[in-house]
Amino acid sequence: MISVEEADKIILKTVKNTSNTEGVSLLNSIGRILGEDIIADRDFPPFDRVTMDGIAFNFTNYKAEQRRFFMENMQAAGEKQLTLIDATHCIEIMTGAVMPLNCDTVVRYEDLKIDNGFAEIQIENVDFQQNTHKKGRDRKLGDVLIPKGKRLSAAEIGTAATVGKSILKVIKLPKVAIISTGNELVEINETPEAHQIRRSNVYSIAALLNDTFKINAHLFHFNDNEIDITEGLKNILLKHDLVILSGAVSEGKFDFVPKALALNNVKCLFHKVAQRPGKPLWFGQQLNKAVVFGLPGNPVSTFMCACRYVLPWINAYLMQKPTNYAFAMLAEDVYFKPDLTYFLQVKLDNNNGILMAKPVAGGGSGDLANLNNADGFLELPINKSIFLKGEIFKFIGFR
Ligand code: AMP
Ligand code: MG
Repeated sequence: MISVEEADKIILKTVKNTSNTEGVSLLNSIGRILGEDIIADRDFPPFDRVTMDGIAFNFTNYKAEQRRFFMENMQAAGEKQLTLIDATHCIEIMTGAVMPLNCDTVVRYEDLKIDNGFAEIQIENVDFQQNTHKKGRDRKLGDVLIPKGKRLSAAEIGTAATVGKSILKVIKLPKVAIISTGNELVEINETPEAHQIRRSNVYSIAALLNDTFKINAHLFHFNDNEIDITEGLKNILLKHDLVILSGAVSEGKFDFVPKALALNNVKCLFHKVAQRPGKPLWFGQQLNKAVVFGLPGNPVSTFMCACRYVLPWINAYLMQKPTNYAFAMLAEDVYFKPDLTYFLQVKLDNNNGILMAKPVAGGGSGDLANLNNADGFLELPINKSIFLKGEIFKFIGFR
């Protein structure tokens, strides 16, 4: 049995860098990893942009004590740049318009008295170039606005849109298969008999991957039959980068997954981790090919292992850097004696900026309904058995 930290190392070693990209439409790119630099196609802003409605004039005349200006013309947003013909006049100007030629300064309507085609400045202090957003002030033509490798959020979409990127190059997602095993499992639209249950695990894993990385995994099922699993895995391993199995990795007489994987030349890199839940976790790889997680079948174990081990593998595959974990403060004392890392289900409460983790332990690794009351797992290390209120631990969130 290896430690959680050793498991992390072994898992991340199997990650190959990927630079394959595909094009997706702008709004479908949210949550994906950018596969190209987004470059400024012009200066930001692209012209001297007026930021207030009012008048534009030449500051030299204001400095020479002129306060009353004849409004010679009007410049709206979306119109070509006008020229102020008489330097002692002004041009009525709107937010978003180009600063007219021979003008450099804007005073807003609120600070003017307007009568008979004249605007008179009512305030004492006017600064040169005020209320203008100078061309190229923010970014220059050719600047990298968003670097390759950035995970796209709504914040990046506006920038990509403004440089005309209707299609973005993003890193290709890994092809993922999720497989349930077990004679007791039926489809979720079936009515189980008394001794059966619905195969919920594949759906929670699929949802987790979709929610986190927009991966659409392929779902499969095998009964507890060594030949069926061995034969079925052949094709699945060939067609996927990542294969996630749920169930049949423990000591049971029908736990055929490790053997079926071995028969398919998937090398076991570890089996069993000193943790609760999820002790029977299995991990391996076909030589330079598919990576395989054999997650224990109990729903909370499956879900915890998917959050704690599968997501970081995908994150490293796509982002080429380790997962950045959050930390939270234990809100109550916790006692856990076994010599295992304990992934405690917790509910988060934000207490004046401090994330407080309140234990909602639940009824064990089969109690999947308890996950609905939790926000994530607090990772309580193996080397202690008493965890005090106020101590800070790694938090693996799933919301
Ligand atoms: P196993 O790891 O195959 O021994 O399964 C452990 C427990 O998890 C058993 O009670 C199984 O019925 C249950 N289980 C296994 N796979 C699933 C699944 N896909 N959905 C829900 N429960 C499962
Ligand atoms: Mg089973």
